[in-house]
Amino acid sequence: MIRQFFLFSILFTAACSFAQNQSAPDNPPYKNPSLPVEQRVQDLLGRMTLEEKVSMLSGANWMDSVAIERLGIPSIKMTDGPLGIRSWAGPSAETKKEGGKLKVATTSFPAGIALAATWDTDLVQSDGQAIGQEVKALGRDMILGPTVNINRTPLWGRNFEGFGEDPYLTSRLGVAYIKGVQSEGVIATVKHFDANNQEFERHRVNVVLSDRALNEIYFPAFKAAVQEAGVWSVMSAYNKVNGVYCAQNSFLLQDTLRKEWGFKGFVVSDWGSTYSTAPTVNAGMDLEMPGGEPMKAWMKKPQTAAAGNGGGWLAPDKVLPEISDGKISKATIDENVGSILRVIFVSGQFDHPHKATGEIDTPEQKAVARKGATEGIVLLKNSGDLLPIDPAKIHSLVVIGPNAAIARTGGGGSSLVVPKYSVTPLKGIQDRAGNRLQVTYALGAAMEGEAGNPAEKAEQLRTEAANAAAKSDAAIVVVGRSPKLESEDFDIKSLNLPAGQDELIEAVAKANKNTIVVINAGGPVIMTKWIDHVPAVVDMWYGGQEGGNAIADILFGDANPSGKLPVSFVKEWKDSPAYGHYPGENLTVDYAEGIYVGYRYFDKHNIDPLFPFGFGLSYTKFDYSNLKVSPNQISPNQPVEVSLTVRNSGSRPGAEVVELYVHDGQSSVDRPVQELKGFRRIELAPGESKDVHFTLDRSAMAFYSTAKKDWVAEPGEFDVLIGASSRDIRLKGSFSLKP
Ligand code: BGC
Repeated sequence: MIRQFFLFSILFTAACSFAQNQSAPDNPPYKNPSLPVEQRVQDLLGRMTLEEKVSMLSGANWMDSVAIERLGIPSIKMTDGPLGIRSWAGPSAETKKEGGKLKVATTSFPAGIALAATWDTDLVQSDGQAIGQEVKALGRDMILGPTVNINRTPLWGRNFEGFGEDPYLTSRLGVAYIKGVQSEGVIATVKHFDANNQEFERHRVNVVLSDRALNEIYFPAFKAAVQEAGVWSVMSAYNKVNGVYCAQNSFLLQDTLRKEWGFKGFVVSDWGSTYSTAPTVNAGMDLEMPGGEPMKAWMKKPQTAAAGNGGGWLAPDKVLPEISDGKISKATIDENVGSILRVIFVSGQFDHPHKATGEIDTPEQKAVARKGATEGIVLLKNSGDLLPIDPAKIHSLVVIGPNAAIARTGGGGSSLVVPKYSVTPLKGIQDRAGNRLQVTYALGAAMEGEAGNPAEKAEQLRTEAANAAAKSDAAIVVVGRSPKLESEDFDIKSLNLPAGQDELIEAVAKANKNTIVVINAGGPVIMTKWIDHVPAVVDMWYGGQEGGNAIADILFGDANPSGKLPVSFVKEWKDSPAYGHYPGENLTVDYAEGIYVGYRYFDKHNIDPLFPFGFGLSYTKFDYSNLKVSPNQISPNQPVEVSLTVRNSGSRPGAEVVELYVHDGQSSVDRPVQELKGFRRIELAPGESKDVHFTLDRSAMAFYSTAKKDWVAEPGEFDVLIGASSRDIRLKGSFSLKP
């Protein structure tokens, strides 16, 4: 009897739970985390009305997607990035207003370009993870980053956000960042797809470029984000690519992203970058942002010609009639909404919503910010080993310049984070010097556009700085740009340093032979006027809130400068690959240089950059030896193993970035002289040696054939070039690919 009762109750419970799973309104299959995601997506789609689905195609407001409370579908709560978390309460100009109520203070991490200069994938992954933790801690779900657009022209206002000029380096770092973010269950958004390489007329410009340039230069980082990092979201760009706006570009969003690369997440528009209804929905643009009231308010503002008429096209009152007219099918709506739902399930947001309970700006997060800022600093010149500062010889220092006493943590626009604190270079240097060294300060030159800078005042500031330099053992001149001069929304006016800064450096260098120039900017600046007159130059990029401590660590030798340039520095703007093909005419920019971007261009045309891609000095010395390439004959698709030994033969500990380039000896098409296909950052104590290994697969040998519309690795000889920079090749080996 007892046995029977038990059996009954087991069966009863099982039957009840079966019945609940089948029909109980609060326990439908889509709510069951143990079921496959696709099943949950389809189940949920089957329960939604058409109106509910359509409402999800555009945002609820500035940074949230639409929630469907009836079914428990949460809103995806976004925040800007990629350099940390920016307040999500509105457009960047409003959330950063002085004294504004919308500000949210978070950790300001180094700019993408500074992270790229570390060549340290582990560090970039930790950076992404720390950012993911802060997103969660603030109760948000998604970060609008990383930016992986290539530095085509040094004048692009957003170069500082991305990872430089090389598609391989950018891919590796983009993948690391995304893995870090998504390891926290936070949605990363790789942006801006595609060919968003200038701000000038970004809302209207048509980028004309070849399939080869797309595949070899402007696609790889997005492809790697999808295929290697499994990125959950892709943001389309404002511009047109080959005549079609990115947000409605089926070639980009359907043929390439989904069909060729297998993307399963959702595409979000850049803010206000949609220009049509049916073509946009049909191209696979899943989520238009922003939406709701902010979008309506925006649309009411008189649109300037330069802003185009973007945004507001996927609002329900636009989409529903196009469905009734047969211009958009219900199956397409299911596809697009399904992509959003899939990410809500896969990211864990549905089953474990973020509760806004964590902490931000923790000691660990600050440590990541400081490590990144320090590792990314590049020593460009160091005559007579002036650096690191030797306290036995240097007893007094003057710190000068418009970037010395103000922490310029990042460039301007949507990526600029408001930190809880930030360390200026002056403060970092003063703290490090303590009372062992006397540190004074002089402004020297006001930042262009920041303060009234009449000629007589400029003269006076410069003279004061030169006088202070004359009285000190060494002078550190911190120059560069500000977020008002280098920003999203406009390009950089000139590659020269802002007004008065070249003259300041010259005046200080005349007064003190121990002049150290520190550059605080998001990319190259022209140095021709003074580079031969100063013994030391260091690039600190935009280092985030810890930039001041980081530069002090390097100047005083607490850390070895081990950063390498992720972008070539030209002597003059006219040497740039894009010169003559930028910013375009009649709203069209022709990428006539094709695949010859960055060092690929300088190598091909035998132009000496001021500092080449991959370059960076060190306080210690590294010897390269023992290169082995094996086997030296391979069959198609067989990998090649490369190894070498690196030894720290100097007297200080430090990291070296080992760079591997491949040169194709014979090819039916024109190919770059060399292309980066591997790198490693390794830490070495004095006297220590380490072996470095690389495996080269077919992708290290192949080019994109426009004729075959595919990647082709042609038989023949390939050189393997191991360098400390793209122009400092230390070891050379080769292998041949058999037919
Ligand atoms: C930028 C995006 C940014 C978005 C939201 C746009 O203007 O191009 O990168 O994520 O605004 O702030």
